[in-house]
Amino acid sequence: MRPEILFPLFKPVTALKGVGPRLGQLIERLSGKNLVDLCWHLPTGLIDRRFRPTVAAAPDGAVVTLTITVDEHHPPPSRRLPYKVNCSDETGSVSLVFFNAEADYLEKTLPLGAKRLISGQIGHYGAEIQMPHPDHILPPDRAAELPAVEAIYPLTTGLTAKPLHRAVRGALDQAPELPEWQDPAWLEKNNWPSWRGALFSAHTPDSQAAMEADDPNRRRLAYDELLANQLALALIRHAARRRAGRIISGDGSLRRKLAATLPYMLTEGQQEVLHDIQSDMAKPMRMLRLLQGDVGSGKTVVALTAMLAAVESRGQAAFMVPTEILSRQHLETLTTFCKDLPIRIQILTGRNKGRPRQAILEDLAQGRIDIMIGTHALFTEDVVFKDLALTVIDEQHRFGVHQRLNLGDKGAASDVLVMTATPIPRTLSMTVYGDMDISLLHGKPPGREPVDTRSIPLSRLDQVVAGVRRAVDNGARAFWVCPLVEENEQLDLAAAKERHGALAQVFGSDQVGLVHSRISTKDKDAAMAAFVVGETKILVATTVIEVGVDVPEATTMVIEHAERFGLAQLHQLRGRVGRGGQQSHCLLLYAEPLGETARARIAIMRETDDGFRIAEEDLRLRGTGELLGTRQSGFPNFRLADPMAHQDLMEVARDDAQLILSIDPNLEGLRGDALRTLLYLFEREAAVKLLRSG
Ligand code: ADP
Ligand code: MG
Repeated sequence: MRPEILFPLFKPVTALKGVGPRLGQLIERLSGKNLVDLCWHLPTGLIDRRFRPTVAAAPDGAVVTLTITVDEHHPPPSRRLPYKVNCSDETGSVSLVFFNAEADYLEKTLPLGAKRLISGQIGHYGAEIQMPHPDHILPPDRAAELPAVEAIYPLTTGLTAKPLHRAVRGALDQAPELPEWQDPAWLEKNNWPSWRGALFSAHTPDSQAAMEADDPNRRRLAYDELLANQLALALIRHAARRRAGRIISGDGSLRRKLAATLPYMLTEGQQEVLHDIQSDMAKPMRMLRLLQGDVGSGKTVVALTAMLAAVESRGQAAFMVPTEILSRQHLETLTTFCKDLPIRIQILTGRNKGRPRQAILEDLAQGRIDIMIGTHALFTEDVVFKDLALTVIDEQHRFGVHQRLNLGDKGAASDVLVMTATPIPRTLSMTVYGDMDISLLHGKPPGREPVDTRSIPLSRLDQVVAGVRRAVDNGARAFWVCPLVEENEQLDLAAAKERHGALAQVFGSDQVGLVHSRISTKDKDAAMAAFVVGETKILVATTVIEVGVDVPEATTMVIEHAERFGLAQLHQLRGRVGRGGQQSHCLLLYAEPLGETARARIAIMRETDDGFRIAEEDLRLRGTGELLGTRQSGFPNFRLADPMAHQDLMEVARDDAQLILSIDPNLEGLRGDALRTLLYLFEREAAVKLLRSG
């Protein structure tokens, strides 16, 4: 239950005086449904009303405050023309211009002969000096009411500054004094005001500097939001941990055999992360660990080793992947690596139906399957393990957070290892994975040459085809990627098919394969398999191959319409090559003219292959909201915190949340109470419900 003290803030914006359904809708679109959303709608600019020149000295376009005398009223002859009021001071005259004006109102506020203080923007039209719709008109004895500076808020079409301003004031008036949830020493150290104080000050900036991210009021509010986020994640994690785990250690027999079979030694990075993972598994608590490693860093074999540990201790392992193609590939890889090991590996995807599916489920329930690879199909309710000890989720960013939590339920105490190549800057990853322990897989397997990356306009397609021809003649294999976006699916598919046709003409139709989301899984498999073994030399594909596909012999990656891809996607795609020992190439084909952002993206791709650097740049170019189509991947949408500017606070918030829960795990003390209010304020009630007395 939301604490009563917050009720006023969670009233709809239409509860404000003067905000009807129409205005309410506009505000809702701009900031959100409730008054609290208006509170989070902070100003981005300032109007300074302290500039008080004479009429003659008022510059064109400037916002000025003038002291004038009202000389004449000119009501318009027709409704379409403006109402003008001529005014003057000792240096010159100025016309106040009003469209759709109420004559009564103007006569009352600007009586003939009266002195008035007016503030607004000056416009010069030939010899005439005008001020259209002054923002403020006041008699001199009420001069004190004129704000020295005024905040400017972001607007939306159809919504003007004045009513929004009034609504924000109205919302702020409802903001109660809340119990302090921050540690007093921390507040003092930062010189931060109370929550309400910070909120008011943030809405009444007196200088440009007061609107920067490093302003103390803004930092305080940002920290509140970050703490709510981290606390919520920590609570989720505590709840998960409360369910006891199991000790998984095993005798090492399978892992030793695997090591003997592998054609290579594990890299130092791989050994390091395996150490983290295995010691987690050996503890009687549940593991919830994120393994982050750039594309091609070798996460699969790490996962396999962990799964073997589970099997050694007589449990089962699940290996979740986002695509059918990837599940086939993993089956292939794992089966090869484990060919001399006494274990059973099976696959379950949406394709398994009817009897065969029943048979697999039966085997799984009886414990006749040790490692179960699968797609979303594994989430289905009737999939029951005999004894699921470890769940590995590959390419986690393709799954929603809910699914992640769901799968953890398949085995009452199953350890969970989540893997992602999607490089997310550390601070940002904390906001999503803050409930997990994180291992970073550094480095790549030895002998990798950096991929030679070039950008080429589509108009030079012939040269590209000739280049691919040379590579293929020298025994190479090439991916040729065409974009596919949902809104444009039909057109895009047609383009991919057309490219396939054109390349087939050049290279011979038995040399060029095609995979995209709309061909049957059987044809997809066949096309992949033919490419993997080298029967076909070129694979035309939409982004279905983006994730995880591993064909070390492929050394050329052509990306058509590179300008339509995001940085993270380009990085993933390029990661498909450069996996063998040979020099690989990535050709980014773009349509001209190239927009500014696309140009920047392509430049970054050419400059670096460091996934984290690319992620940082991506963030800079796109902003957090858009990164990875973040909404469904569970990124919080921050209103006050800026993941770049407030990085330092993010780290403190994480530690703070841990400290808080180590002292008061159920948020029962006085501060705990205030922290519950904080969670509700930022609408993290789901986390509060995890508290035992929630
Ligand atoms: P990702 O982290 O992107 O999932 P993979 O697990 O697909 O990467 O590994 C990429 C390639 O590197 C595979 O071909 C794999 O066999 C190879 N590989 C993994 N570990 C090593 C190693 N220690 N030495 C050499 N090659 C390795
Ligand atoms: Mg992988």
